Amino acid sequence: MCYHKEDRDQRALARGPVTTAPQLGDTRAARDLGLVGWGVRVFDECSRCHQGVWRLPRSIGARCDGCNRSYHRERLTALRGAANPRFKGGRRVTNEGYVIVRLQPDHPLFCMVNSNRLVFEHRLIMAEVIGRPLRDEEVVHHKEEPTTNNDPNNLELFANHSAHMAACHRRGTDEEEINRLRGQVAFLAAEIIEMKQRMTALDGGPPGVKSDDNSGTLQA
Ligand SMILES: [Zn+2]
Ligand SMILES: [Zn+2]
Repeated sequence: MCYHKEDRDQRALARGPVTTAPQLGDTRAARDLGLVGWGVRVFDECSRCHQGVWRLPRSIGARCDGCNRSYHRERLTALRGAANPRFKGGRRVTNEGYVIVRLQPDHPLFCMVNSNRLVFEHRLIMAEVIGRPLRDEEVVHHKEEPTTNNDPNNLELFANHSAHMAACHRRGTDEEEINRLRGQVAFLAAEIIEMKQRMTALDGGPPGVKSDDNSGTLQA
């Protein structure tokens, strides 16, 4: 809707200071109301507190500034958490496939959250099962995939990372593991021999054998 022409007509009609109490629908030039600019203001009431207010024609039927502020403040509070239609139970799945939840400060396990108030759901559930918050080094293992299955029966607690890895995420059988380690030992042994040879070539002999090396002997 265009108020442009209408504005001009109304301005012409409504010059001069406001002397009587304005009625709803009265129009005035903004300047006559002590406002900056050339526009017209219409006398309207706040849709909430019904207090009279001069406002732009396009804002007729709106809330006054004060009511608008409290309206938005109330909305923010009312729509927090479960009251928000987009609330998914504070539950979200990370790219790695773990469920994270955001806790409110009054949660009994709030001490387990990170700086963003987030905590892995499997850790939270394990803490509830054992009745105390988990220590940072404690690890909760998922017995079966998917890792979004945080049923207490699918979870297992380990004292630390290495206990968890040793029990759950060892590659292959014991025999395969021994063979892998044997191979690694042989490789490292060969590397040590090669490095010793290089040192001999650089120094003209292994450490402590060089004729001009007296760093190891005390001067009298
Ligand atoms: Zn109001
Ligand atoms: Zn695991």
